[in-house]
Amino acid sequence: MDRALRERAQAVIPNGMYGHQSVAILPDDYPQFFAKAEGAYLWDVDGNRYIDFMCGYGPNLFGYGHEAINKAYVDQLQRGDAMTGPGPAIVELAEAMTAQVSHADWAMFCKNGTDATTMALMTARNHTRRNTIIRAKGAYHGSAPWCTPNPHGTTPGDHAHQIFCEYNDVESLEAAVREAGADLAGIFASPIKHDTFVDQELPSPEYARRARELCDEHGALLIVDDVRAGLRLARDCSWSLVGVKPDLSTWGKSIANGHAISAMLGSNVCRQAAGTIFVTGSYWFAAAPMAAAVATMGLVRDTDYLERTVALGERLRRGLDEAAQRHGFSLRQTGPAQTPLIMFDDDAGYSKGYLWNNAMLKRGVYFHPWHNMFMCAAMTEADIDNTIDRADDAFAVVKASGPLEPVAKLAWRRRAA
Ligand SMILES: *Cc1c(COP(=O)(O)O)cnc(C)c1O
Repeated sequence: MDRALRERAQAVIPNGMYGHQSVAILPDDYPQFFAKAEGAYLWDVDGNRYIDFMCGYGPNLFGYGHEAINKAYVDQLQRGDAMTGPGPAIVELAEAMTAQVSHADWAMFCKNGTDATTMALMTARNHTRRNTIIRAKGAYHGSAPWCTPNPHGTTPGDHAHQIFCEYNDVESLEAAVREAGADLAGIFASPIKHDTFVDQELPSPEYARRARELCDEHGALLIVDDVRAGLRLARDCSWSLVGVKPDLSTWGKSIANGHAISAMLGSNVCRQAAGTIFVTGSYWFAAAPMAAAVATMGLVRDTDYLERTVALGERLRRGLDEAAQRHGFSLRQTGPAQTPLIMFDDDAGYSKGYLWNNAMLKRGVYFHPWHNMFMCAAMTEADIDNTIDRADDAFAVVKASGPLEPVAKLAWRRRAA
């Protein structure tokens, strides 16, 4: 079924699939199409079940098809969704999110994380009447022309007025600020370094504090892009963990547990600037995803989901390290335990990782070899212990394979490095 759909897709979808949803550069046996999802589980179109550690690349926080969240969604859907104007849920959601996020005095809603980061860029430029923004090399902020990681179809002008620094490197941040001079509009910050293909890094408090100070000294705005990490590291903005309040934060993915909505939150400093950019979309005021987000915020506030996902992540991390050691491997498990990234030491060609991930997939575990993964609150300790058992078997497969060739489909990446 998956193979047949891929053939049909080749005929009617350019290149068969696009963006991060293309599985063409994942290990060979990864399915492209899925039939259903429930709780922590995912079924491909051939009926294979996986425990899913990608969580939809971030949206699944409380479990796929969460009953209370979906009930809020369906109830609102039946009353009205994309209407001529928003429903009361837009106010309830803005109240809920500003109550939850300590730097935020106001909220605006949109559909994708890219909408939110692009609005933040415009707000910073409108607030300062300047152009230049600083962001970290390799950090993802979405797929609009100004920030897409692939230059195809963009102009040099789309990338103008941007200066890049190294994440967690105070000196390179200071150098970028000097280069921006009197034109500095804002500094974009990933809450953690969660770039693909490289180890994750927590923010150093010095880096985060310096970014805040530099923005204050220059009258620029500090923007934390919490689209991926938001609600997974803290119930507040992720940089509350290092004691730094941004002027703007951007949210998406988990905020409605998979329903289509994203947000920009801000402080009173830039309320006026945010209120005078023209941004909108046909579906941005749809009420049903807002009702789902209100329900999600209630669960964020009232349940132990965060502590639970941390504990499950730590259990997984310990178990995988022990299993790897039994087979003579050493893993690089980086970043917060609830957003794990797992790679092998001594694996320049990603070949061990690809073989291991493929072996996990065949055993019913959907892992990712080079993108951070996600724990969800619907996972159980039994799910984690099961995953560790499967990992043990998958390590044996890698061990038995002997020497491996670098992964051919990642040759572009090795050339770029
Ligand atoms: C996914 C992501 C975005 C873009 O969100 P979309 O909903 O895919 O447009 C922006 N920033 C970060 C950090 C992300 O992970």
